[in-house]
Amino acid sequence: MAIETTTPQLSVLRPDSPQEPLPGALAADPPLQPTESFLAELRCHDERLDGATPQEILQWAVEEYAPRFTMATAFGPEGMTIIHMLAEVAPETPIFNLETGYQFKETLELRERVKQRYGIEVQFKYPEQTVAAYEATHGGPLYNSDSNRCCFDRKIKVLQKAACGMHAWASAIRRDQSPDRAKTPIVGWDKKFQLVKISPLANWSKSDVWKLISDQDIPYNPLHDQGYTSIGCAPCTRAVLFGEDERAGRWSGTQKTECGLHSLDNED
Ligand code: SF4
Repeated sequence: MAIETTTPQLSVLRPDSPQEPLPGALAADPPLQPTESFLAELRCHDERLDGATPQEILQWAVEEYAPRFTMATAFGPEGMTIIHMLAEVAPETPIFNLETGYQFKETLELRERVKQRYGIEVQFKYPEQTVAAYEATHGGPLYNSDSNRCCFDRKIKVLQKAACGMHAWASAIRRDQSPDRAKTPIVGWDKKFQLVKISPLANWSKSDVWKLISDQDIPYNPLHDQGYTSIGCAPCTRAVLFGEDERAGRWSGTQKTECGLHSLDNED
């Protein structure tokens, strides 16, 4: 017997009716369509940029896509590194944070530190409901009982709305962060959000990132000094133990490894 589930599938979001706004690049003017020739062009850029520095990749992204180029950040060390680079290359780039309402206060405080250091105002993007209203609707928090739904409502939907009208977004993921991220292209098509996705740090290592942070005195989340190697929402993040994978503290004790923003099957 088929079992119905209300948990949303973290796959391509498509408008169900003409009233719903088109996602990402399809909502831009002019729209960006992922035709075969366009995807082939992206693959050429990906190959060409695979040996480029992150700054060169960002410079290319800005020249190619600004002002329809954006960045989402959770203020992780990689994100802070890209913000530092964008402050030099294109400080006008719109940068936003998915403020789920469950983030650590140390994470939220980084917004002010970024503003003080770079003059860049990272925008908070909020889910439709406050945490109180959301938990009242669902009879309590969903992060333990249905974390996919919680991430979908409080991250995925918010990003899709924030990406409307954009052509491209920067991600801060590195290939060596986890097996899920090992095949991340420098430039690819993000099917879920209908955007070109650019990952300037894909070829960087964790030590590359921290060396730049140290050399340039880039602000970072103080929780990293307490064993939190990867930081998401507070209820779904713990410090890692010696020898553990750097993302082992995310959704610890469950099979979940990604919130759905950077799923492997997301890109061509
Ligand atoms: S990381 Fe946890 S608290 Fe944050 S949106 Fe996902 S399930 Fe909810």
